[in-house]
Amino acid sequence: MSTKRPRVPPVLWRLFHNRARTLGHTILSLVPSKTSTNCLCKGRQCLGCVGENGATSFLIREKDSDDYRKLLNKCFVVLSDSTPPLHVYDPHCRWSHLELVRRTIEMTIIEQPNNVICSGYDKMSRFSDIVELLTSPAWSLLLKRIGDVLMVYLLKNTSIFFRLPRNKHRQVAGVPICDLRRKSLLHVSATTYKPSLLHPVYCYSQNLGKREV
Ligand SMILES: [Zn+2]
Repeated sequence: MSTKRPRVPPVLWRLFHNRARTLGHTILSLVPSKTSTNCLCKGRQCLGCVGENGATSFLIREKDSDDYRKLLNKCFVVLSDSTPPLHVYDPHCRWSHLELVRRTIEMTIIEQPNNVICSGYDKMSRFSDIVELLTSPAWSLLLKRIGDVLMVYLLKNTSIFFRLPRNKHRQVAGVPICDLRRKSLLHVSATTYKPSLLHPVYCYSQNLGKREV
């Protein structure tokens, strides 16, 4: 994983400052570290017990695809303020990837219907373009590396922004950034607000559909 601190897109920086981090850094910060003797992987080694120095090279390896590297280094994530810490790290994968994403979205529709991850989800076909994005080969590899529990935790408790060409980002989970940005702009004075500095983020919400903000 890149050791350089990546530049946070301006629109995310304005809203979240240091809370906006790459997916890779977010994952490393969330995993409570243990020794391999009391880890749930029972000595097979996982992200939870390889130690701080080994965690980065466990998460991203030399032969990993560019898409996977981009996912970890260019996709930005913001933890919600109310997110409880992850006390226990369980590295196992019990669910199929597709089923895990579908069930997480179906739970979220009940608990936080405004979450972007629910946008466009068809309950009959159990599909949406966000399901398709979150089940790409890069996300599948990530699931194998981090396990079900952390993946569900990320999808339910964070805002996720995918990198698109030309330095644009698309939100695929979390409170719609257009709602947060609208509130934030109310506090920005006319003299400091410079729309030209903002790179667009595509915002999805249940009622508004796709918008550039
Ligand atoms: Zn372990």
